[in-house]
Amino acid sequence: MRRLLVLILIVSCGAISACKTNPATGRSQLILISADKVSAMGAAAKPELVEQYGGEVESETLRAFVTRVGRRVAAQVEPEYAHIKWEFIVLDSEILNAFALPGGHVFVSRGLLAKFDNEAQVAGVLGHEIGHVTARHVDERLSQVVAAEFAVGGVGRGTDSQLAVLAARMISQGTLLKFNRDQEQEADGLGVKYMTRAKYDPHGMLEVLEVLAEASEGSGKLEILSTHPDPKRRIKTVRGLLAGEYAYTQGDPKYKKQVRRFARDAAPHLGQ
Ligand SMILES: [Zn+2]
Repeated sequence: MRRLLVLILIVSCGAISACKTNPATGRSQLILISADKVSAMGAAAKPELVEQYGGEVESETLRAFVTRVGRRVAAQVEPEYAHIKWEFIVLDSEILNAFALPGGHVFVSRGLLAKFDNEAQVAGVLGHEIGHVTARHVDERLSQVVAAEFAVGGVGRGTDSQLAVLAARMISQGTLLKFNRDQEQEADGLGVKYMTRAKYDPHGMLEVLEVLAEASEGSGKLEILSTHPDPKRRIKTVRGLLAGEYAYTQGDPKYKKQVRRFARDAAPHLGQ
């Protein structure tokens, strides 16, 4: 009976206190764990993830470059998220990947950056990851698993250590940071919004997806496609945004790609 109740809760996010309207997406979502708790789990998971991907890059110049771009984009999030202390980490790995943990830890691999040739692409990939955080996709996923594992009545009292164990298990199984197609589209839409507000040319987002689609044809180290699926469908959606809602940015010199800045501050530091 309790299980059935839980299922009903997940399926119908109606007039239930655990369902909250997200300020970034305007969508109602099931959130059973407080933002503080989920942030603490993100912070706890960070060191292991960094180690798993070969640590951070050594180049101070490259780290500072990515942090600058990330902060510019993150400054554009909804006021409800103004308290987040964003952190941008460049992983010293050839694997093409980017992901974010709740609490605002955003990761991008050196291998992915090496596929780029302008700063708007970096803003695009970081904006997408920032979008996963503001859309609270990890919180949502954890809440669904928690609802299925524990009875809803117990979750409010559910101990932090139980939740931490669950989150750690999902991270090691690689399931916590895997998103569905709708979540990917949401993160793309938010990324385009934030990067545009930061005066980057949102065409950079399309270029990121084209890089991923092209790489998916080969047999490269493409972990990013298992966590962020379906680049071809996403390309279509982003093209639609550029031709519609964001058409005003195309050809307007206020929205920049920053090719020279990328060539100066990032490109020389992307080799092994
Ligand atoms: Zn994604």
